[in-house]
Amino acid sequence: IQPGNRMKGLVTKSTGSWYEVLADDGSTYNSRIKGKFRTKDIKTTNPIAVGDWVDITLEAGAMAKTAIIVHLHERRNYIIRKSINLSKQAQIIAANLDQAFLVVTLASPFTSLGFIDRFLVTAEAYDIPAGLIFNKLDLFSEEGLTILRDYETIYQNIGYPCHEVSALKGINIETFKDLLQDKTTLISGHSGVGKSTLINAIHPEAGLRTAAVSEWSDKGKHTTTFAEMFLLPFGGQLIDTPGIRELGIIDIEQQELGHFFPEMRALMNDCRFNNCRHINEPGCAVLTALREGKIAPSRYESYLSIYHGNDTRT
Ligand code: GDP
Ligand code: ZN
Repeated sequence: IQPGNRMKGLVTKSTGSWYEVLADDGSTYNSRIKGKFRTKDIKTTNPIAVGDWVDITLEAGAMAKTAIIVHLHERRNYIIRKSINLSKQAQIIAANLDQAFLVVTLASPFTSLGFIDRFLVTAEAYDIPAGLIFNKLDLFSEEGLTILRDYETIYQNIGYPCHEVSALKGINIETFKDLLQDKTTLISGHSGVGKSTLINAIHPEAGLRTAAVSEWSDKGKHTTTFAEMFLLPFGGQLIDTPGIRELGIIDIEQQELGHFFPEMRALMNDCRFNNCRHINEPGCAVLTALREGKIAPSRYESYLSIYHGNDTRT
């Protein structure tokens, strides 16, 4: 390829100022942005994210495999988090996702139901199919398993797939691979839940690749990795979000929150008032279902806590 040639490529890593682009020629190019790329409707701190399709042109002296991103292709979807510094701005974490999984552990560390629910609400808000991966299955006692199955029942009843794995002992890893095959999947989770171990279990080369990339980044100024994509040897892409504590939704309207709880969404048309907040209104179908045990109390608690903006961050 001669300098100046234009190619399409997939952004596989973003450090804020540099992007790794896997181009149509099969090579990876460290790329910079020239010009302005704006995301419709929201202000973003980063114009381009992992999972984006872009056009690049190679820079002169392409021995270094550097390129310039000149065009951003339209996104099917994307997921953001609120910027830490500028509350009015958002950071795009990843684009063009088929699904998102939260890796959950009930011990070391404990993932709260509230945290799970905020993740699921986010996925609903962005229309991304979501599921839960319960890791460290090998640590569960008989009693622990009962609690685990209770958790799973809550979410399976709503329609969220739940899977049990042990990344360390290799339990149900083949099933997990089947879920990922030929799809673009984002995984998230508290630090310590075993995401790295899981990625290594399905894709042993991943560790090496990460090391090589961070070495290169260190030559530039200090950068933070938002998200990184791993190409799966059996087909598909996995996007890891190291250091991202929590995905987020910008400016979620209280009035639309119920739509992001599928079990509430299914009932809302039966509420007496069409602007029902499902808090204390008479004739509220959601409150009736809650009393009848058809909506899990923990889910309703999460609804209230997000509604009132109580962000417990656990
Ligand atoms: P990450 O922060 O999510 O990437 O978590 P790591 O993959 O670094 O794992 C954190 C710790 O949990 C490490 O000590 C792992 O060995 C351990 N771990 C990961 N998966 C499992 C598992 O399935 N069972 C057990 N018992 N420990 C695990
Ligand atoms: Zn209602």
